[in-house]
Amino acid sequence: MQSAAQSWVEGANDSASGFSLANLPFGVVGGEGRGLRIGVRIGAFIVDCRALVEAGLLARLDDSIRTALTGESLNTFMSLGREAWRSARAELTRLLNAQTPDLRDHPRRKSIMLPEWGMSVRLPCTIGDYSDFYASLHHATNVGSMFRPDNPLLPNWKHMPIGYHGRSSSIVMSGTPIRRPHGQTVQSDLGPPTFGPSKLMDYELEVGALIGTGNAMGEPIHVDRALESVFGLVLLNDWSARDIQKWEYQPLGPFLAKNFASSLSGWVVSLDALEPFRVPLPARPASDPEPLEYLRGTNDVVFDVTLEVSIASAAMRSAGTPATVVTLGNFKEMYWTIAQMIAHHTSSGCNLRSGDLLASGTVSGPTPESRGCLLERTWRGTQPITLGDGAERKFLQDGDEVIMRAWCERAGVPRIGFGECRGIVTPAR
Ligand code: CA
Repeated sequence: MQSAAQSWVEGANDSASGFSLANLPFGVVGGEGRGLRIGVRIGAFIVDCRALVEAGLLARLDDSIRTALTGESLNTFMSLGREAWRSARAELTRLLNAQTPDLRDHPRRKSIMLPEWGMSVRLPCTIGDYSDFYASLHHATNVGSMFRPDNPLLPNWKHMPIGYHGRSSSIVMSGTPIRRPHGQTVQSDLGPPTFGPSKLMDYELEVGALIGTGNAMGEPIHVDRALESVFGLVLLNDWSARDIQKWEYQPLGPFLAKNFASSLSGWVVSLDALEPFRVPLPARPASDPEPLEYLRGTNDVVFDVTLEVSIASAAMRSAGTPATVVTLGNFKEMYWTIAQMIAHHTSSGCNLRSGDLLASGTVSGPTPESRGCLLERTWRGTQPITLGDGAERKFLQDGDEVIMRAWCERAGVPRIGFGECRGIVTPAR
């Protein structure tokens, strides 16, 4: 086994860190009296890209890339396309390698390498349009069987990645408090409704793809080329109010049950970093329909990413009780791939734009532990889960903190970390 490349950055070669030379996710950071700037995470440090450019250390890159890296968000850099992302990544890999003295021995190194603990990570870009899919067969089957026991999967589900258009205005950075929403809810399926705080608040564990290069209106993206347009992946908590959802979702799908907040993790992990964790899309069972031609990639993949959700109530946090893991799953369990979502989304001629966010929908696996929301974990509240301090949960209570983490690991290759996506539920006002 060839050993992984080493970095001179403290903590970067620690195999548990998830932020080795093999990862190098981009993000936007603030703090330490500096304005917003593009950063690259390595070990316990963040490379300040603007400072790197100003020190003349990215002279090998094209002007357009250097200029984009001095911005306050990733939007311009994302729009430059895969060759530009790869050039920047290669140059950062070279500069951070243990064998390269340019940055390691540079007199301004201290003002370029910022300790991670002193910085706050912000939304990586201005999010354009946000579309949310429903691409996990386990999730769709579980939820469908609760609401339609005789007919859990609708006839269209195995023929296309089902999705809806969401809101980007309420996408917030990990760590932002999430206020419990008000809405219409009913006691009986036929109403009448009352208006008040949601009583059935839930998390949804999802992976988001940030679009780097979009398509012109009327020119669909081919499924085989779809991943080329993805700048990287993030974690997403699509907070959901199940009682509001139940009353409003027919006939046009989710609306206010989903639009009050979605939380995003800040470090954007590139598909190049995920290369060792690509898994060929498993063959469908013979009883399933073949996808139509435009959804059939010649070399389509899923990604082997472990996904974890834990909950710490306010009482647990003040008592120092560790958060309780409530979901442990894997992104490779998805039925529809990211490439298929992009190909389907654009197949009508709809144009994706740089900065758009496509989310996978709740990632659920075949086992109870791998179900990606409380609706499924507690089976609509009929099987409460027990937290570390003995308290039971059917749905989220005020003060609960939901913490999502993701990582890729396999013997012999460096671990890839996604960092965290956190949020505390605060009382309705
Ligand atoms: Ca969702």
